[in-house]
Amino acid sequence: MIYIGIDLGGTNIAVGAVDESGKIIGEFSTKTFAQRPYQEIIRDMAFCIGKILNNLHMTEDDIASIGIGIPGVADQKTERVIFCTNLGWHDIPLGEELRKYYNKPIHIDNDATVAGYAEYVAGVSKGTDSSVFLTLGTGVGGGIVINGKPWSGFHGIGSEIGHTTIKTDGVECTCGNKGCAERYCSASAIIRMAKEALAGGAESSILERARGDIDRINAKIVIDCAKEGDAVAVRVFNEYARNLAVTINNVADTIDPEIIVLGGGVSHAGQFLLDAIQRHIPSLQLYKTLPYPRICLASLGNEAGIIGAAMLGR
Ligand SMILES: [Zn+2]
Repeated sequence: MIYIGIDLGGTNIAVGAVDESGKIIGEFSTKTFAQRPYQEIIRDMAFCIGKILNNLHMTEDDIASIGIGIPGVADQKTERVIFCTNLGWHDIPLGEELRKYYNKPIHIDNDATVAGYAEYVAGVSKGTDSSVFLTLGTGVGGGIVINGKPWSGFHGIGSEIGHTTIKTDGVECTCGNKGCAERYCSASAIIRMAKEALAGGAESSILERARGDIDRINAKIVIDCAKEGDAVAVRVFNEYARNLAVTINNVADTIDPEIIVLGGGVSHAGQFLLDAIQRHIPSLQLYKTLPYPRICLASLGNEAGIIGAAMLGR
């Protein structure tokens, strides 16, 4: 039997067939074209599944279940997408519509939850009982796995670690609140802080790397400059690491998982990022003499979306 995993993004629909062990054995992707009616997007999900079955010389009978990771919130009981901002989806009957093509058990969950679950099944948190996954990208997503099961809360709207407040009356967030962790721990936060630091006319290699155009600054440029010891970049990155350490410590104090996994673009800073975070943990840690969650880098990369979604049905 195979498990179908669908990673629904604003740009691509990535579909994969995954075996029992969490390994992808077939893949097919297409563009989302998010402005289309949802029926067409879901039809294309089914089209991708058909292509994969063909390539594997399999039939619908070989599919055990279909899982979908969405950049939004779903009601797992009704199989409806409550909302999905960057697709413009609101109360969409995803399960019902997809079942018109493949009448299989369907599981829908948030993309960060799904990616965290993938790391538990086949990645860095494999073998742990509890883990928390943080994606550090344009925003900050959270995925919680407890006792081997993804935990999205009673109403399915939990694990939104990126929207916990870390600074009262802080920077305005896309969600309408102020001071969300996402505004201080995402790749976008690094860019904003670098621009603020440069606004005073400080001398820095960041601007050189961005070819003199402040709008070309990205998180990688700032991190690379910090690695090379550029004073402005070091200050920005250190402040970023402090904010991230605060968010991580809030997770440690709330959930105390065995492992906290960092994924998304900023996590490509690797050991440099882990070292910067670890410098701030001792001052934040509540029980100084007791063990602390391990903080690690994600190991699955882009495949996590497909693997985690597929494994929801295992
Ligand atoms: Zn927010």
